[in-house]
Amino acid sequence: MKKLTLATIWLDGCSGCHMSFVDVDERILQVAEKYDIIFSPLVDVKEFPEKVDVTLLEGAISTDEDVEMVKKIRKSTKTLIAFGDCAVTSNVPSMRNHYDLKDVFKRGYLETSTDNDVIPDEMLPKLLDKAYPVHHFVDVDVFLQGCPPSADTIFYALVEIAEGRTPELSKRARFG
Ligand code: SF4
Repeated sequence: MKKLTLATIWLDGCSGCHMSFVDVDERILQVAEKYDIIFSPLVDVKEFPEKVDVTLLEGAISTDEDVEMVKKIRKSTKTLIAFGDCAVTSNVPSMRNHYDLKDVFKRGYLETSTDNDVIPDEMLPKLLDKAYPVHHFVDVDVFLQGCPPSADTIFYALVEIAEGRTPELSKRARFG
């Protein structure tokens, strides 16, 4: 059977979902039988590929660069997986959504600073007014819930997709 290509990426995430992916342990060999990992923090490739079969996208969409990236990913990807609760609901990054952006900056760069208390206004991606889930900007094919999703759930979803099936995720435990 022809292997699929797999990309993994995190935007406004903590990398915990990727750590859970690594927790598939020796089953990574079974993943490698079904997928070529062509883009990921785990491999040294800088440009997101033009074409990829499956992408695991961790994290919320929080900056103008995230918006640009998520649109590029969608355009290049056949099956887009919102990977973890930050991607599915905006989760932890959305804790700031209850506050004005100026108050968020003030808290982060002035009130809690011990040195160099300046709000940066250049050379950084522009923060959106709120943190958004991935599906706010693009269509998502599979929602993989959990903070993080368990290694078992990630493995199950990848195998199902590789076998041409739609993963049944509604009954799977969200935590562990
Ligand atoms: S869902 Fe949880 S583990 Fe995954 S990026 Fe968000 S906070 Fe981290």
